Amino acid sequence: MYLAYVRGPPVAVFAGSWLCSKSPVDGTPIALGEPFGDCDPAVARLMSVATTVRMAKALGVKVFVSRELGEDGVDAAFAGGADGVLEELQFSRGGYGEGARFVLLEPRNVEELVNTVRNVAEAVHKPFDVLVATTLEDAGDFAPYVDGLVLVGGWVPAEVEEVGELPEVGRCLHCGIDYLMYGGGIRRCVYCGRRLSRVVTSVKPPRSRAVFRSVYKKYANLTRLRFKVV
Ligand SMILES: [Zn+2]
Repeated sequence: MYLAYVRGPPVAVFAGSWLCSKSPVDGTPIALGEPFGDCDPAVARLMSVATTVRMAKALGVKVFVSRELGEDGVDAAFAGGADGVLEELQFSRGGYGEGARFVLLEPRNVEELVNTVRNVAEAVHKPFDVLVATTLEDAGDFAPYVDGLVLVGGWVPAEVEEVGELPEVGRCLHCGIDYLMYGGGIRRCVYCGRRLSRVVTSVKPPRSRAVFRSVYKKYANLTRLRFKVV
């Protein structure tokens, strides 16, 4: 069914093209209120994961997720810019474990975090990277003190709703505007004259982490996005 992104942050990240006949490419930002695809409504959960990861990445740290999200959820996380999957790292939980490169902590606050890190260091005399398991809500407190975050919840809502039409959508990345072509069809941005790129497509790139990563990078600097009807 034709869906629009109706409730959530001003910019969400699309994920779940494998549940759609037409959609943006996974990792593409979409604007609040925008119609985006012919999809199963289950894409909402995947968009929620992708959007949350993107917001955590904006804090400037590495972001990891757990395999517990399932295969679709993990792919959605990569569409949002995730750096890896916790279970694929050599890590130990709560303290230092032999051979671990990462120490995963779940501190209640920053004081507990930094003092635990020092205590671990005194005990082991070995280098390690620090990860904190946290929700997006608390991520901002810990981000300045750690090498990475493991998102364990607090997924932002990304709600979708059935709509009557799916217009062609042309995007000007320079101006951060999507032109919804309900009436006319235009090829160039009315503000800057740049050529528009098509957002909704039947083309499906391979479902691989490298592809997710490159799409994420393409849009990493796009912080605002609105639509305009033409
Ligand atoms: Zn423009």
